[in-house]
Amino acid sequence: IRAQGKIYRDKDEKPVRMLGTILDITEFKRLQQQKDDFISVASHELKTPMTSVKASIQILDKLIKSGTQPDKISTFIDKANSSLNKMQHLVESLLNVSRISAGQLELSKSRFNVAEMVNESCDYVRLAGDHQVIIKGDKELEIVADKQKIEQILVNLVNNAVKYAPNSKDIIIEFTKRKTTVKITVQDFGEGIPYDKIPHLFERYYRVDSSGVQYSGLGLGLYISAEIVERHGGKIGVNSDTGRGSTFWFTLPLGD
Ligand code: ADP
Repeated sequence: IRAQGKIYRDKDEKPVRMLGTILDITEFKRLQQQKDDFISVASHELKTPMTSVKASIQILDKLIKSGTQPDKISTFIDKANSSLNKMQHLVESLLNVSRISAGQLELSKSRFNVAEMVNESCDYVRLAGDHQVIIKGDKELEIVADKQKIEQILVNLVNNAVKYAPNSKDIIIEFTKRKTTVKITVQDFGEGIPYDKIPHLFERYYRVDSSGVQYSGLGLGLYISAEIVERHGGKIGVNSDTGRGSTFWFTLPLGD
């Protein structure tokens, strides 16, 4: 609590009136703390792939100087590329949060093929372990929407499926045409989400406290995804069973 005031006195110096303001800065402090924490986590999230790119470049430098065959160095180029993709996605997320706050998330719509867009999105995701993505849907289906932003939603959802279902194999992406909309689902067979946490998932910075396991992340992916879907006039949600996995879904108007 911060207080400021002025005491008015009469000619005998007796206080007659006091004028003041009392400001409750508890909320202000909480927001400041949240901002500080966010900057520290975001810097760390950027530093990890940056270190990896730097290491790959140093190795590449050595290999090239020692005359190693081009096919032997491609692994390190792939590694650097995938770390750069991760950084690009992160910076794009941060920019989108600023745009959302400023009410400046503009859509740039065009007609595109859904199957192609889904395939392109998967190129940006680094699969780990045993993961495989299975894509189901009408290969001819086209919609009018902001392709780049819809790709971003898919990258968020598939990245999450990889991250939060580390021990399962399949990730299923399915798109279905309905009367005036398309429904896209991303299903994983991971740990699922406790029922009482589901209403908060799409809030900014929200992350479920997983018992003991530390997952990287900023709690922005679903928030941004929800904003993009909403701007298109669609809906987003999740069906999840703890221990069985989650199916995130969103709908988009087919457009004209
Ligand atoms: P981040 O993954 O960076 O924390 P998101 O906004 O993408 O942020 O997700 C918010 C939270 O929702 C995550 O922290 C995680 O707890 C939960 N979550 C998202 N996707 C899944 C999933 N497929 N399985 C289990 N939990 C998930």
